[in-house]
Amino acid sequence: MKLYNTLTRTIENFIPHNKNEVTLYTCGPTVYHFAHIGNMRNYISEDILEKSLNYLEYNVKRCMNITDVGHLTSDSDSGDDKMLKGAKREHTTVLDIAQKYTEAFKKDCEKLNIKWPDIVVPATSYISEYIKMTEKLLEKDYAYESNGNIYFDISKLNNYYSLINKNDEMVIGAREDVEKDENKKNQGDFVLWFTKSKFDDQELKWDSPFGTGYPGWHIECSAIAINNLGEYLDIHCGGVDNIFPHHTNEIAQSESYLGHKWCNYWFHTEHLNDKTGKMSKSKGDFLTVNSLIEKGYNPLVFRYMCLSSHYRKQLLFDFHNLDNMKDSYNKLLNKIKNIKDEGNIEEDKIKVYQDKFKEALENDLNTAQALTVLYDVLKSDLSGKSKLYLINDFDKVLSLDLLKEETIDNDLKIYIENKIKERNTAKQNKDYEKADQIREELQKHNIIIKDTREGTTFEIQK
Ligand SMILES: [Zn+2]
Repeated sequence: MKLYNTLTRTIENFIPHNKNEVTLYTCGPTVYHFAHIGNMRNYISEDILEKSLNYLEYNVKRCMNITDVGHLTSDSDSGDDKMLKGAKREHTTVLDIAQKYTEAFKKDCEKLNIKWPDIVVPATSYISEYIKMTEKLLEKDYAYESNGNIYFDISKLNNYYSLINKNDEMVIGAREDVEKDENKKNQGDFVLWFTKSKFDDQELKWDSPFGTGYPGWHIECSAIAINNLGEYLDIHCGGVDNIFPHHTNEIAQSESYLGHKWCNYWFHTEHLNDKTGKMSKSKGDFLTVNSLIEKGYNPLVFRYMCLSSHYRKQLLFDFHNLDNMKDSYNKLLNKIKNIKDEGNIEEDKIKVYQDKFKEALENDLNTAQALTVLYDVLKSDLSGKSKLYLINDFDKVLSLDLLKEETIDNDLKIYIENKIKERNTAKQNKDYEKADQIREELQKHNIIIKDTREGTTFEIQK
């Protein structure tokens, strides 16, 4: 398999450290709010990566963290604490916020057919491991104490910036959110452990040899990855905005701690943009999986949209584009529905298409090409039985529910049923204006409702 490696900036042959088991680490969400669909694009590509490796007959062991402590808004060491901000917004505790949004994230993954990683670790459950790593980094003189906090000293490394393609001044200079921190020896140094929190009301704190406090964000992923996947990691995944400083810092502290190279392949997914640029939660009104459902889209249309593009290309999201994807996805499902399960399984011919499908995946996850192979199968002179066999086979990677009888997403159904209930109540209250509004709203999403003697029924027009 060939994969693009951010570390070497080239497409390389993938050779796992242990050929019987590929280790894969994914930076998980910070669970202070719903994930936006830009985040979800990233998890879709990682899901495709894992499933492609499986299709190519590798065993994969995958681990993901859940950041439920210590993530400051700027992703460096400055800004507000995201978790604390979430708790204040919803007038509850940090732990409640973490639980609520971990569940929400899990549901979003289910709706997008993203497999939940084998090992999922909340950051708060590994505190003793961060302490252990920090102690060793202090011992080895890679870290220092300053005014109550423990910092990693980036000047101890001569390859600190190896993951990024720019010189340090450019990167640091470009970040308008970096606050000057007088405690640091070098402005690029980052926190391993805070005891001097700038937040008086910090809820979660732990005792440590360095004083009562909480860990920095970056140390989380290093400790969780090393403890669960071992000292040699094959692939580390994330979004491109994780490259610096997060992944750069992960490499620095992990390799200084271990005393050898840690991870061979760095896999990064590009941004999902809207017309104004990169999608982000700070813009206020952000799109989630649920908002797509409320607007009448099956979430798998979004997955299909992501697969139609390459993970290393920026993808422009707008509803016009999504509507086009919805049309092609529905047409695809209809074509598949019309295939008759007849004829023989033509093993030789099947293998030809499987090889083409593999070739597409092996070519740095060319999912658009993989979809073309699927369309080629539909157009081919293969028997219905062979076609259905291949569709089922390819869907192990694509995960587009291509053969599922029920194509209406359950959430969409719930949405429609709720709207119908709402309309019936309006009618009972003789609020005919509202009843008409609801009918029109549904119509906009191609949902046609009919009032019959048995009650209100609906039909989704393709
Ligand atoms: Zn991470």
